[in-house]
Amino acid sequence: MTNRALSANLAEAIGHLAPFKAETTLHLIDGEPVASVTGETFANISPIDNSHLGDVAAGGAEDVAAAAAAARRSFDEWRDTPGEQRKRILHAVADAIEARAAEIALLESVDTGQAIRFMSSAALRGAENFRFFADRAPSAADGLALPSAHHLNYTSRRAIGPVGVITPWNTPFMLSTWKIAPALAAGCTVVHKPAEWSPFSAAVLAEIALEAGLPPGVLNVVHGLGETAGRALTEHPEIAAVAFVGESATGSLIQAQTAPTLKRLHFELGGKNPVIVFDDADLDRAIDAAVFMIYSLNGERCTSSSRLLVQRGVHDRFIAGLTAKLRSIVVGHPLDPDTVVGPLIHPDHCEKVRGYIALAETEGAVVVSGRPPDADLFAGSLAGGSLAKGNLAPANFVTPVLLSNADNDMRVAREEIFGPVLTSIAFDTEDEAVGIANDTDYGLAAYLWTGDVGRAHRLAAAIDAGMVWVNSQNVRHLPTPFGGVKRSGVGRDGGDWSFDFYMETKNVAVAYGSHTIPKLGG
Ligand code: NAD
Repeated sequence: MTNRALSANLAEAIGHLAPFKAETTLHLIDGEPVASVTGETFANISPIDNSHLGDVAAGGAEDVAAAAAAARRSFDEWRDTPGEQRKRILHAVADAIEARAAEIALLESVDTGQAIRFMSSAALRGAENFRFFADRAPSAADGLALPSAHHLNYTSRRAIGPVGVITPWNTPFMLSTWKIAPALAAGCTVVHKPAEWSPFSAAVLAEIALEAGLPPGVLNVVHGLGETAGRALTEHPEIAAVAFVGESATGSLIQAQTAPTLKRLHFELGGKNPVIVFDDADLDRAIDAAVFMIYSLNGERCTSSSRLLVQRGVHDRFIAGLTAKLRSIVVGHPLDPDTVVGPLIHPDHCEKVRGYIALAETEGAVVVSGRPPDADLFAGSLAGGSLAKGNLAPANFVTPVLLSNADNDMRVAREEIFGPVLTSIAFDTEDEAVGIANDTDYGLAAYLWTGDVGRAHRLAAAIDAGMVWVNSQNVRHLPTPFGGVKRSGVGRDGGDWSFDFYMETKNVAVAYGSHTIPKLGG
């Protein structure tokens, strides 16, 4: 049954990949597909077997300049388009995403190595992001009335200008909609620079948006490497703000690159998020949530619960329960519906993750391995052809692990691994748990498991994180703020916070005519 489903998914995916294979994926500038000025391209490979999926235009400063000029030219008209009309267009984009969700999920799975079971919902979440912000477009400019004794002050918001959106490779489609939808709803025009390791779904989104009625030039895409296309976008004077999702180190570079043009920045960066389990917690639910938050999405997830802190009294029970689940997690072909962990995005990234697992042993943690990748993935037969089982690259697969008996000084407890690797640390008291949780450079998310309501609130207040979930995995509610503290980010998005980023607030003070005006001179 599973093999049949895999074969069907593979056949369908290969069909969707055919146009990318046949022709270079181009930039989309002013509604037109265009090659790079230099004619340069880069190869896009699949993490499934490192086979060549297609060539992609490699943008540089001139391509970014053309896209920024298009975004600038379209800006005034799009900003002044009535909110109700923007709402209609963005709902049409959401409709088209839903109609093509299966195709997007298959493409994304082949391009990123993420299991199809997660990519199917990620594609639909992209549509949800568009709908959520579409509904808010008509009221995005609304402000406050702040009357004083002699003046009526009122505020309103206006789109900030053309913005740059730079996204990573882990869940590229969903993440780009999370940035692009509010920018468009606010009235901004966009230049999107997708990650070079997973560029295809950005091309599909731009095509969908254009077909759904978004005017040419409102959403532009420039493909290319971070150091060239990404850098040029952050340095371009017409780009008023940059929304960036990626590594903390890249965030630092972008902060420096944007300083000369004084851009507004929003950063969603890395994490080393604690999940803290007390002895009074519902352990079964906590185990399921901890397993889900580190082994779903290949562990390539900014909000993954990568540091497990367990109270000593329940430590062994918890680790035993978690290990049993870990050992049954299927590592396999990402298009197989049974697969939980697929191949990691790139051999370099896989090497990095394996390096941390080896390091854990030298640091003194106990490495508990899950189920290794299915042997029939690499059976050595080339008969199945590219992307098929039996012909995959062992270079990209990693066995999920638990690194138990760690302490918080180990590098595996401090650095973001971004793979299916969970580091666990035992603690005794509440204070100790808070101390360990906060002893990190990061502060994106935290997960608390306890039956004690008072303790839940005390810890939620004490932990340095932008988001805390109590007795829950990460369940997103789109009106709530999303973002991190310390090296995990700058700013928030979600709900109205997104509009605060993509819009400028203006205050108008109108005198009642009753106030004193100082008289100077004659
Ligand atoms: P990355 O920082 O290497 O790349 C992200 C994007 O930045 C890519 O498009 C890349 O081309 C571009 N880029 C690279 N150098 C640049 C430069 N000098 N100027 C401008 N752009 C540049 O990140 P990645 O490896 O693609 O993604 C993984 C990281 O993303 C992890 O650290 C993860 O935690 C983080 N992430 C964070 C969130 C969040 O919401 N906080 C969500 C997803 C991923």
